[in-house]
Amino acid sequence: MRSSEARQQFLRFFASHGHTIVPSSSLVPDKDPTLLFVNAGMVQFKNVFLGLEKRPYVRATTSQKCVRAGGKHNDLGNVGKTLRHHTFFEMLGNFSFGDYFKGDAIAYAWEFLLKTLDLDEGRLWITVFREDDEAESLWKGVGASPSRIVRLGEKDNFWSMGDEGPCGPCSEIIYDLGPEVGCRQPTCGVGCDCDRYLEIWNLVFMQFERSRDGAMTRLPNPSIDTGMGLERIASVLQGKTGNYETDLFAPLIRRLEEISGLAYGEKELTDIAFRVIADHVRGATFIINDGVLPSKEGRGYVLRRILRRALRYGKKVGIEKDFLSDLSRLVVDMMDDVYPEVRQNYPFILKVLKGEEERFLETLSKGFRLYDEVKQDMAGRGEKVIPGEVVYRLYDTFGFPVDITDEMAREDGLALDMAGFEKALNEQKERSRIDRRTKDLAILVSESIGVTDAAEGAIPPTRFTGYETLESEATIQAMFKGRESVEEVGQGEEATLFLDATPFYGEAGGQTSDEGTMAAGNAFASVGAVTRVRENLFSHSVRVEKGVFRCGDQVHLAVDAEKRRGVARNHTATHLLQFALRSVLGEHVKQSGSLVERDRLRFDFTHFQALDEEELARVEDIVNEKILDTVDVRTDIRSREEAIREGAMALFEEKYGDTVRVVSIDGFSRELCGGTHVRNTGEIGSFSVLSEGSLASGIRRIEAVTGKGAIAYRRKIESLARSIARDLKSDMESLQGRVESLLDEVDRKEKEIGRLKDEMARRRVEEAVKGAYVKNGAHIATMFVPEGTAEDLRKLTDMLRERLKSGVVVVGTRDGQKGLLVAAVTKDLVSTYSAGQIIKSIAAKFQGKGGGNPQMAQGGVASEHVMEALAYVRELVGA
Ligand code: ATP
Ligand code: MG
Repeated sequence: MRSSEARQQFLRFFASHGHTIVPSSSLVPDKDPTLLFVNAGMVQFKNVFLGLEKRPYVRATTSQKCVRAGGKHNDLGNVGKTLRHHTFFEMLGNFSFGDYFKGDAIAYAWEFLLKTLDLDEGRLWITVFREDDEAESLWKGVGASPSRIVRLGEKDNFWSMGDEGPCGPCSEIIYDLGPEVGCRQPTCGVGCDCDRYLEIWNLVFMQFERSRDGAMTRLPNPSIDTGMGLERIASVLQGKTGNYETDLFAPLIRRLEEISGLAYGEKELTDIAFRVIADHVRGATFIINDGVLPSKEGRGYVLRRILRRALRYGKKVGIEKDFLSDLSRLVVDMMDDVYPEVRQNYPFILKVLKGEEERFLETLSKGFRLYDEVKQDMAGRGEKVIPGEVVYRLYDTFGFPVDITDEMAREDGLALDMAGFEKALNEQKERSRIDRRTKDLAILVSESIGVTDAAEGAIPPTRFTGYETLESEATIQAMFKGRESVEEVGQGEEATLFLDATPFYGEAGGQTSDEGTMAAGNAFASVGAVTRVRENLFSHSVRVEKGVFRCGDQVHLAVDAEKRRGVARNHTATHLLQFALRSVLGEHVKQSGSLVERDRLRFDFTHFQALDEEELARVEDIVNEKILDTVDVRTDIRSREEAIREGAMALFEEKYGDTVRVVSIDGFSRELCGGTHVRNTGEIGSFSVLSEGSLASGIRRIEAVTGKGAIAYRRKIESLARSIARDLKSDMESLQGRVESLLDEVDRKEKEIGRLKDEMARRRVEEAVKGAYVKNGAHIATMFVPEGTAEDLRKLTDMLRERLKSGVVVVGTRDGQKGLLVAAVTKDLVSTYSAGQIIKSIAAKFQGKGGGNPQMAQGGVASEHVMEALAYVRELVGA
């Protein structure tokens, strides 16, 4: 049975038992920035299990794309070594949300395996949780052999969603591949790490809820979550001893044999390498397909590690060719019937693979050199542990993921100083964190008062009041002129101020800072940029317009409400825009950056290709509809977990505190966001996209305007169109027709001019023919044209040559200071005359230059010599 049929059979079986077939979600978790990749079928249903989300069905079945290559679930190191672990695999699952439970789940699984797939019952083993008598008797009830039911402990057979929340015992179905497979040790049995007892299916019985203190209570409506690896069941159905020989992998292995000239199944190292490469290219293809790009952190780093590991194994078995894209195309050919988007995204996938391959190979050899040097060095001193700084340098400078370094070290009998590496890594993180925040001001603060920690104590934190109010009373805590701490600033001076409270929003999360004024008695100042030196330390750039301010003064701060409102319109509009993009383009759209200013907004997001006219119009329409709907915008303070559970969107890379602010618009948009927003979408007024373009591969940028800006933009376009219409003596309605007919006319005229030029050239040629004289039976013709390019001259010489049939032709023209000459000789005369020689002689006489072959040559002389040069031809040919 082919794997595609197995997938179908599974979904069909459960559909026939009342399950709704739900499509696989993206590999990038939608609602959970803490999870690297979707690693099980249940992930997309997490909130349904938790009772936080309702779906129109209580039974579902899926074939879910999964990646277990980073984070809590990491099988990367197993891939290649075992025949059953992949970075990317498909998990077939059936789910009950408080509907059927243990009894049905067991009966379905048994029926599917024995009746639908017709597996040999004698090969099946069942594991149940140590304390789960109920499961054991249910298995016996459906006919499982009691002698092949095994009880295991928490580690293998108890599942939980997290430290708190739903949990319960599980039960695995194992397929015995037979004594000739695996470790062949007498101790081998169910639970052995080798490949013999293959776990194919895991049934999870969610029947308890664990509370924070660890107490377990029974759930009133227990649920079912199951997962079966498609690659594993395929290997059983196809009678193979490992996943790599199934139709899901065999073509990749065959291709690797072709590329490398090596055979699979002969040498362990080659076999491992082939398995790693086949698996990793497949995994990388699917990860990129879901919008992840290689990077130094998070998902992007997992992807990079996978790709580099594949490349390294390629090198190890001596593959010299680029193989990533070749194999990836094969993956696409194999999988596009089930996942058509991989074909659609292939050009993009290819670009990413190529880029990463080049980048890695560039630094690879340098990295190997460093590694070898260190190795030699250590051997000399009899050391066995590679220092953390070396691991870090390999990682940071040469792009060696740590597990690659680790693998190399193991092969050389060495170990890594991981603590040292972590330390170097953290130091770097700290440095770049400080770098980022240390705008001029942080330097200023730390240098004037001492170290930053001291500054923290010296300047009390700033309380931000700007969510509730635009005006606040505050006390000046510290003032700096340049780098110098001062006690007062006077009229005409600029300074940086720290206050105990502020209504001014400090630039953050893409939102530009507030501006406004500061007053105390008669003194008055304007407040420009406001920066967050640290999360709760705001610095204000101030210019004193009148009077004097002193440390300790009580001041009145007022935010420029007009600017704030402009910014708020644009900020709320970015949330609407993100929602609209996801509705039109799909859930893979993720924010990758934004800029929110008074007059405009910019939104960067992951997407593979340019938006077409129609998609852009739909996006714009959706945003404007939400504006016209005048929907309330709400902000709530939540615990981070709570917010994420409710499905708030967050930037994965962003760090959020324990309490977060959730900005929600009528339930359809919910984002973790610290920015300031309008209270109702109606305030945005109007929204217009200015431009859409590419920012980096896989990342697009939209620029847009709102409110008055949108009105001004439309007016500009309109008045432009109107003035063009006026200039073209047309009106708006017929403008397009008018432009089209003008373009037609231009086209016609160009053709006409071309014809006239040809006509003129023919006349010139005729004149030159008439002026030609004959020497020893050969026609000699020269011709001057007032203007023309080298191309024009060559055309003319061709025409002349054609007309004369047999002859020598020289044509000249002037182009500013330069004179241009082209000479040609018909084939029959090349034994007597040479075009190249003629041009060379002319060049010699008139200090020009040029050359060519006997039939055709080209040269240049000063423009005042062109006529003389043409006359000189007569002398040259000996007339
Ligand atoms: P194993 O112990 O073999 O690693 P697991 O206990 O981690 O498996 P589960 O988390 O229960 O597996 O996942 C459910 C099913 O998904 C497994 O029974 C197996 O068929 C499949 N599966 C799990 N991990 C992988 C993997 N890395 N590659 C391929 N299939 C897998
Ligand atoms: Mg596992």
